[in-house]
Amino acid sequence: MRQNHSLRNVMQDWVDSSALGGANQTYIEQVYEDYLKDPLSVDTSWKQIFDSWPKPTVSEQPHAPVREYFRELAKENTNKTGTHTIIDPSASRRLVRALQYINAFRYRGHLRSDLDPLKMWKRLSVPNLDYQFYGLEEKHLDEEFNIGKYVYDRENITLRELSEKLHETYCSTIGLEFMHLHNIEVRDWLQQKMEARLNKPLFSPEEQKTYLQELTAAEGLERYLGAKFPGAKRFSLEGSDAFIPLMKEIIRHAGKFGAKDIVMGMAHRGRLNMLVNVLGKKPAELFDEFAGKHSNHDRTGDVKYHQGFSSNFMTDNCSVHLSLAFNPSHLEIVSPVVIGSVRSRQTRLQDSERNKVWGITVHGDSAVTGQGIVQETLNMSATRGYTIGGTIRVVINNRIGFTTSYTGDTRSTEYCTDIAKMVDAPVIHVNGDDPEAVIYAARMAVEYRAKFKNDIFIDLVSYRRHGHNEADEPSATQPMMYKQIKKHPTPRKVYADRLVAEEVLNDDQTFEMMNEYRDALDNGECVVKEWSELDRNSLEWINYLDHDWTAHYENRFDKERFTALAKKVCIYPESHKLHNRVKKIYEDRELMAVGEKPFDWGMAEIMAYATLLDDNNAIRLSGEDAGRGTFFHRHAVLHNQEDGTYYIPLANLHNQQGRFEVWDSVLSEEAVLAYEYGYATSDPKTLVIWEAQFGDFANVAQVVIDQFISSGEQKWGRMCGLTMLLPHGYEGQGPEHSSARLERYLQLCAEQNIQVCVPSTPAQVYHMLRRQMIRPMRRPLIALTPKSLLRHPLAISEMSELLEGTFQPVLPEFDDLDPQQVQRVVLCSGKVYYDLLEKRRANQQTDVALIRIEQLYPYPSDDMQTVLQPYQHVKDFIWCQEEPLNQGAWYCSQHNFRTSLPAGASLNYVGRPASASPATGFASLHNAQQKALVDEALTVE
Ligand code: AMP
Repeated sequence: MRQNHSLRNVMQDWVDSSALGGANQTYIEQVYEDYLKDPLSVDTSWKQIFDSWPKPTVSEQPHAPVREYFRELAKENTNKTGTHTIIDPSASRRLVRALQYINAFRYRGHLRSDLDPLKMWKRLSVPNLDYQFYGLEEKHLDEEFNIGKYVYDRENITLRELSEKLHETYCSTIGLEFMHLHNIEVRDWLQQKMEARLNKPLFSPEEQKTYLQELTAAEGLERYLGAKFPGAKRFSLEGSDAFIPLMKEIIRHAGKFGAKDIVMGMAHRGRLNMLVNVLGKKPAELFDEFAGKHSNHDRTGDVKYHQGFSSNFMTDNCSVHLSLAFNPSHLEIVSPVVIGSVRSRQTRLQDSERNKVWGITVHGDSAVTGQGIVQETLNMSATRGYTIGGTIRVVINNRIGFTTSYTGDTRSTEYCTDIAKMVDAPVIHVNGDDPEAVIYAARMAVEYRAKFKNDIFIDLVSYRRHGHNEADEPSATQPMMYKQIKKHPTPRKVYADRLVAEEVLNDDQTFEMMNEYRDALDNGECVVKEWSELDRNSLEWINYLDHDWTAHYENRFDKERFTALAKKVCIYPESHKLHNRVKKIYEDRELMAVGEKPFDWGMAEIMAYATLLDDNNAIRLSGEDAGRGTFFHRHAVLHNQEDGTYYIPLANLHNQQGRFEVWDSVLSEEAVLAYEYGYATSDPKTLVIWEAQFGDFANVAQVVIDQFISSGEQKWGRMCGLTMLLPHGYEGQGPEHSSARLERYLQLCAEQNIQVCVPSTPAQVYHMLRRQMIRPMRRPLIALTPKSLLRHPLAISEMSELLEGTFQPVLPEFDDLDPQQVQRVVLCSGKVYYDLLEKRRANQQTDVALIRIEQLYPYPSDDMQTVLQPYQHVKDFIWCQEEPLNQGAWYCSQHNFRTSLPAGASLNYVGRPASASPATGFASLHNAQQKALVDEALTVE
């Protein structure tokens, strides 16, 4: 028996591994030879088999055990007659080929599956799905094969039946791609799912009626809108109508598997349908929006097909909270936002098994493969700091992107979903004209996600009945496709006819369904029967409403607690051996903790976190090098040099502290920043910080900054307390390691949408971070942080400045100058201050005062008035910056600076000349430029 079982494994593995057509013995000999050389070099399943074989003696050929094995098999099977086993060579070859034939369907059946409702998709030819490919002939069709329960739990099966069953299973309206998965258990589970039920879902008449009702609703809404608001953009779902029963079934089924909260993200196609027919938005509200009415006058708003929505949905088991994320037109970017939101909710609900909060992202066929953000998001999907235990990813595959449909133009892969393979995600391709197959796909995806906590894709193959929008004419570019579409019955009609044919319903009943839905729309009330009243509202956010940046907050922190914490953050297990450089940093921190050394940047930042955690606030810090800090200053994660383990002092302060997470992220700016935005917009009680490796690289995430961070509250009323730390400073490191592109952020500033700060001392960063959490306002903070200043001897703060101070939007002159002697006031931000200070001290000048603007936006007018009070006699004001003229703060902020000047004073620019590139790549030129701008700023005419 053992040998028979082994044979099956052998066969399976060998057929799995490639099309080795009949060369079994030779192939196995080869693998065995490899095994003899190095047992670990062969697949574990082979190794297990070979381990049980007698080892060849020195005198034997190395292949002797293989040959012996085959002889044994032949002997064992000699008594079996009537079916093909490995008795005679030609029969054994046929059996082997039958097994190959079976496997070919598992691998490639999807390529011949009936997916395209329009039947226009030119598929790859797959000759190995024909038995003739294996040398089997028509005359073998009625021969029985002993396949040893290899498929369909059958010992014996004729080739004819086998062929029919395989086609039914793998080439129907569902095509499953799963053989690329590395995990055998997962593969077996999916295979079982497909083969056990011959891939034929069976539904009760009641269920069938529900799906028809849902298709009727999908179609009914689009028709109604089309008639009522002709030509208005609605990005109709028509052609992909099965998306509505698909989404509802995912939600219903996820409820059975424990989902309490589902966050969803999708682009514009079908979104209005989703809002009304799944989320329960009142049709009357939507019609008002079409009619140009809007209820919100305190923000700039967004178009209707970008709107998010929250509601509750009753499933058989429980109520599931649904949140559809707001999104911009930039396709796919909402995916990481959704995932971040899911993670934050899982953390809040202590859903460590990731059962309660689920994410569903909806994609378009062109965008899912075209936009790199999908790759970045998938790459995060299983990483420690970002995983959500699998996302269900639905692709509305209408096989066209705006006006481009030729796959030789849209992508370089067979399927638009081939990107799924990078994360071992299975793909269920399904024909959108077969709603029952779609429901089956939904259930399979939910069960898979619940069991394996991995991503899975559903590729809803369908079509787009109209143009990209309703004012567009698609026939101009897709004449053949649209000729076909015009003739093609709608998905509702296809299914209604089927149910009538199956006598589940009659024609009158299907018409009645349409009338009922139209009446419900006329009524204007919610049309989703599973909808229920929200049992929670914006309570979590209520405390943060209507505050601006000057809102009062209590920033003092008790001295005794502070010093105790300062000592605590330096403690790590004795057995934990630090790298010498890190050890030195920690020894210095110990001296800072007892007041024997002033605080440097790293310790001040750590103390901001420690004091917040001590007050039970949570902190999540992420970025490419967040644990250590790109510039070796943070060391929030301590790596044991002896065994590679790590220790995080901030996570080990005491039992009652807030949660501290620090994650080194995947090498991505766009997806990671979008993720943290999603996290921060779902949780006002965690200080969420994203740090760029160099501030320059944040422009890879420009879409996130433009479309979400700077405008999300004004468009959608969604507050966000995200902090971005952007290392910035001109130190001669060239065009890409100097500028965090301050001008980009300042240009986006309006309506107090974001805060832009350039803290220049350890005390300032301490207070800035604490303010961001403690003040009852949640707005994004863009903080330009230093590089060389991290270790600059002048960039230090006394403990008292941390204990007694607060964040100062403007820092007054630091040296003890007599204001009356001052003839020029230089305004500046960031590192250049220290260059100016050192030079002024070296020059022993007393005629130039240096004022640091630490918060460039919202512009601190009142603070500036106070700080400039002693200099009302000065007429000569300078804005000095390291950045070129066309960059930095000069162009965007000078109007603000001017409002603070005494009457009759002038404001002039000192900095680098205008430049296409942010910085020179030549060190000598950098030094000359830096010296020149410092000299010029200090030269009083
Ligand atoms: P959700 O859990 O995302 O469905 O949100 C539930 C409710 O909380 C929403 O309807 C809003 O009233 C409120 N809410 C959620 N997120 C935010 C946010 N970032 N800013 C303001 N209010 C929010």
